[in-house]
Amino acid sequence: MIPYGKQDINQQDIEAVVKVLQSDFLTQGPQVPLFEAAINRTVNSQYAVAVNSATSALHIACLALGVGKGDIVWTSPITFVASANCALYCGASVDFVDIDSETYNLSPIELEKKLIVAKQQNKLPKVVIPVHLAGQSCEMQKIHQLSLEYNFKIIEDAAHGIGGKYQDKPIGNCRYSDITVFSFHPVKIVTTAEGGVATTNCPNLSASMQRLRSHGITRDESLMTEPSHGDWYYQQLELGFNYRMSDLHAALGISQLERLTEFIYKRNKLAKDYSEAFLGLPLTLPQQHFDTNSSWHLYIIRLQLSDVSQTHREVFSKLRRAGILVNLHYIPIYKQPYYKKISSVNTALPQAEHYYEEAISIPIYPAMSTSQQQKIIEALKNIIK
Ligand SMILES: *Cc1c(COP(=O)(O)O)cnc(C)c1O
Repeated sequence: MIPYGKQDINQQDIEAVVKVLQSDFLTQGPQVPLFEAAINRTVNSQYAVAVNSATSALHIACLALGVGKGDIVWTSPITFVASANCALYCGASVDFVDIDSETYNLSPIELEKKLIVAKQQNKLPKVVIPVHLAGQSCEMQKIHQLSLEYNFKIIEDAAHGIGGKYQDKPIGNCRYSDITVFSFHPVKIVTTAEGGVATTNCPNLSASMQRLRSHGITRDESLMTEPSHGDWYYQQLELGFNYRMSDLHAALGISQLERLTEFIYKRNKLAKDYSEAFLGLPLTLPQQHFDTNSSWHLYIIRLQLSDVSQTHREVFSKLRRAGILVNLHYIPIYKQPYYKKISSVNTALPQAEHYYEEAISIPIYPAMSTSQQQKIIEALKNIIK
């Protein structure tokens, strides 16, 4: 069985975790700040707030930006449900912007169209969450330009994107956004088992997210409502959560980040080899916008169904039966029963619908061997020939 994605853990990673197990702190020790500093160095951000998942990071990012009841958040329909759920956690409502037909990312053209209508209806979003699907950045400069014109905030969902670049700068530097969120789930580019981080260049957003990840508590006297009662003293200023990352997870993250260049190199190589091997087949291969360097979290093909004498579902299940655990990223979120239940509007978006009829994620991960990749290529060729 070849999974679609998989972590790559080496001896250095194992030793990093064991060392923490033998130390004084399993959590709230030195590893989390060290991991955050490593993230800042890697993506050129000023502040990093490490948490126990990207889902938690998205939640506190929304809260730090003031998302609440009555607010509207927009995201892409072609993403994991967490990109939209975060707004619902805050009591806001969610709407979806259709994707670009080539990159499958939130389309800046569709975004502008929707903003024009929303402005007339007085229903502008407070926050837009572009998602860097497969690790290819959205067109952030255009989205940022629109945010100035229509006055919304931006959270980049870069769960797939660490190690990717936009305009030759690392994803996560927040040049065109308020906050960027990364995931460290084992299928993502680098892992902490479970974990996530929010990066920002704004000190207030960083301080707010730091409080929210730990119960809304501060020990900073300058923020307190009265003078400290003593060295034990802290104040809860708002309702936060326990979203902290442990030192065990952070140590694994530090070690994994040291291997990021190697991971991205291998993913690029696999993607290039796929694209060469699939030339001439009735497939739409992943297209790259000239401003982007993908981290290649996913390699998504689309079946040209008029030239493939089988259905999408048949091709998918034949690949699975051949031991290739392909996947589909993603079901348009508005098709989920829960979203149908809470949505008053009929949101079928043509590009998202079309994408969902054709897309298949084929396996890509750094530890994939040449013979495994060959097996996948041969299996796909045999099935669609
Ligand atoms: C994985 C993922 C998340 C959630 O990440 P967790 O760390 O598992 O919470 C959010 N958005 C996207 C696009 C993802 O792929």
